[in-house]
Amino acid sequence: MEKIKMKTPLVEMGGDEMAAILWGMVKEELLEPFVELDTRYYDLGLPNRERTADQVTMDSALATRELGVAVKCATITPNIDRVQEYGLSKMWKSPNATIRAALDGTVFRAPILAAGIEPYIRSWKRPITLARHAYGDLYRGVEIRVPGPGKCELVYTNEETGEEIRELVHQFKGPGIAQGVHNLDKSILNFARCCLNYALSVKQDLLFSAKDTISKVYDRAFRDLFQQVYEEEFAQRFAEAGITYQYCLIDDAVSRAVRDEGGYVWACQNYDGDVMSDMVASAYGSAAMMTSVLMSPDGCFEYEAAHGTVRRHYYRFRKGEPAVANPIAIICAWAGALEKRGELDGQAELVFFARALRDSALLTIESGIMTPDLAKITTHPSPKCATSLEYIRAVRGRMAGLH
Ligand code: NAP
Ligand code: MG
Repeated sequence: MEKIKMKTPLVEMGGDEMAAILWGMVKEELLEPFVELDTRYYDLGLPNRERTADQVTMDSALATRELGVAVKCATITPNIDRVQEYGLSKMWKSPNATIRAALDGTVFRAPILAAGIEPYIRSWKRPITLARHAYGDLYRGVEIRVPGPGKCELVYTNEETGEEIRELVHQFKGPGIAQGVHNLDKSILNFARCCLNYALSVKQDLLFSAKDTISKVYDRAFRDLFQQVYEEEFAQRFAEAGITYQYCLIDDAVSRAVRDEGGYVWACQNYDGDVMSDMVASAYGSAAMMTSVLMSPDGCFEYEAAHGTVRRHYYRFRKGEPAVANPIAIICAWAGALEKRGELDGQAELVFFARALRDSALLTIESGIMTPDLAKITTHPSPKCATSLEYIRAVRGRMAGLH
């Protein structure tokens, strides 16, 4: 069987620790035997970020803009411990934050569903993909600890005319607290575009939730801006794709999320997304069963596993223990990137390969061969606990059968 030749390269962002080890195994066993990989490689491993003063992260983001598709391995976000461990000259910023800012992108997270790994929420049959707005609100808020009686006001001063808009927050009669938050039309509009584009690309309904019954200006503006982008830029394409966009009160969205079968994209404001993505993630029992896609408003995609570098496993691996971390989210990230590359280039065989790869990875788990994190929680009657490499080779066995 001849290897598939890619028409256009994609951006490959290398990473750290256990995730980087799994990355190598996946490439060697599951990709290189079948595809002549054409990637533009950026080593985002911490030592190379240190060497390049983090320039490599920026370069990889710019390359993603250019090529449209990227796949990223988990990377260390340095903290004090890491500065010592790696002898860093600086506490470099999170690569994910740098890339997200450079692409003005939105992160979509979706669980990986396999029979035998049952979510705690029994009604879920298809994944709920969660999109979190990553600008403003509480996360850029300013706060005052009010010491005692006094007037707290919200004041906006027009830069040109000097005119003021004033709202009384509260006339304090004793100590209390106050908070000021903001957001930007541009950021909300781009968030809406990302979500609407993503829903189109996966052909799923989109829900945006907020609390406009209480927040009649702030949340109402979110709702109106979403509606405006939908009507002006997307309504027609949504109708053609047979999917819907709907605004939904956050309370209803939450109760729907635990009642419904799933299978839709749920766009959340910053705080709701922060909280709800943890809820959706833990409902599946393993941190390894979650994928993540960063999408820019102009249609660039970066795929990755949602988990980190799996540090504890790496230290055990370095002492000579076999690798047992679960590579499925890394496999799904590569499958997503290759599928998107194939779609954009009109290359059916690459799309077919990517889907076969993802299906084989899932079917292997469903057949009972799985890493310990899943073996612990599966409802499969006789699971076989596999190392990372044993699992990957079982997936390869299925792939070879297809070819
Ligand atoms: P983590 O790497 O996601 O791992 C947390 C724990 O979850 C692991 O210790 C392991 O539990 C379990 N786990 C995660 N992925 C797994 C997998 N594939 N297979 C089996 N078990 C898995 O999070 P962390 O330990 O908090 O962070 C480690 C490093 O990753 C940090 O330096 C952080 O900055 C970085 N990070 C990077 C990204 C990214 O690049 N997108 C995201 C998150 C964190 P057990 O040990 O109990 O088996
Ligand atoms: Mg959170």
